[in-house]
Amino acid sequence: MSSICDSHTYCGRFAPSPTGLLHAGSLMTAVGSYLEARTRGGRWLVRIEDLDTPRMVPGAADEILRTLARLGFAWDGEVVYQSRRHERYRAALDALINQDLAYACRCSRREIQAVAARGLDGVVYPGTCRALQLKPQPGLAWRLRVDLAGEQAFGDRLQGRYAQNLPRDIGDFVLLRADGYWAYQLAVVVDDADQGVTDVVRGADLLVSTPRQIWLQQRLGLTTPGYCHLPLLVNAAGEKLSKQTLAPSISADAALDELALALTRLGHRPPAGLISLSELWSWAHNHWCLENVPKGPVFDVNMSWI
Ligand code: GLU
Repeated sequence: MSSICDSHTYCGRFAPSPTGLLHAGSLMTAVGSYLEARTRGGRWLVRIEDLDTPRMVPGAADEILRTLARLGFAWDGEVVYQSRRHERYRAALDALINQDLAYACRCSRREIQAVAARGLDGVVYPGTCRALQLKPQPGLAWRLRVDLAGEQAFGDRLQGRYAQNLPRDIGDFVLLRADGYWAYQLAVVVDDADQGVTDVVRGADLLVSTPRQIWLQQRLGLTTPGYCHLPLLVNAAGEKLSKQTLAPSISADAALDELALALTRLGHRPPAGLISLSELWSWAHNHWCLENVPKGPVFDVNMSWI
């Protein structure tokens, strides 16, 4: 893939999964990543993360793009769809297999649950198949070895230092699922590198994934981008707004209010009297400052911006 981002220019991205429409939480992420990129004179890409086909909502990808456009976001280059990039993920997996860093795994979820300890993101796979050298065949998952990883730390631009001990906290993680779908962890690393992304700005629910992604980048000889994890928008019970928590989708008909609310939740308070989208965007460009953004979480209470 020829990248429209060269390594000298800030290049950010927004990577929604079309498992639902844009909601107030994903809009915050879009606004934060967009303003970080644009106020640094950088580029901003959109990638549709449509790998997990059974969870996709038909038409959601197009609707997300339409809503973004109506809200006044302008992205650079063509939208990239993960569902069209299997060969790139295959090449990355093959490179890892050739270095003996990835192995086939036949353990079922139930078998793993029965023996594994809880980690920071589900159970920690105990490495049962690591030494078995199972022959590749359909129905097997592929995992990346992290047994030699030790502590993996990085400095997040908003959340500060974040560290995990990958063998203890995460375990050998899945790159290709037993049902044949590519895992998010592999796809995101390959795509961010191929697209020349220099700075990842995304929701704080993905902080727990970042040490894994950095380990994977290092194994594949890829540059690690900068990371900034924005606050999550949560309901009164502290749950992330999502399709599961029945978050309403963003209405582009109320574009001005939706954007102003997203900015307010990100610690910026647009003044009353901005009556058009272009006025609001221009205010946002002039006032955006990451230091004003709370680490989160942000509660989804009725906030009025005027
Ligand atoms: N596709 C993920 C989501 O919608 C975001 C992945 C990322 O930004 O790395 O939550």
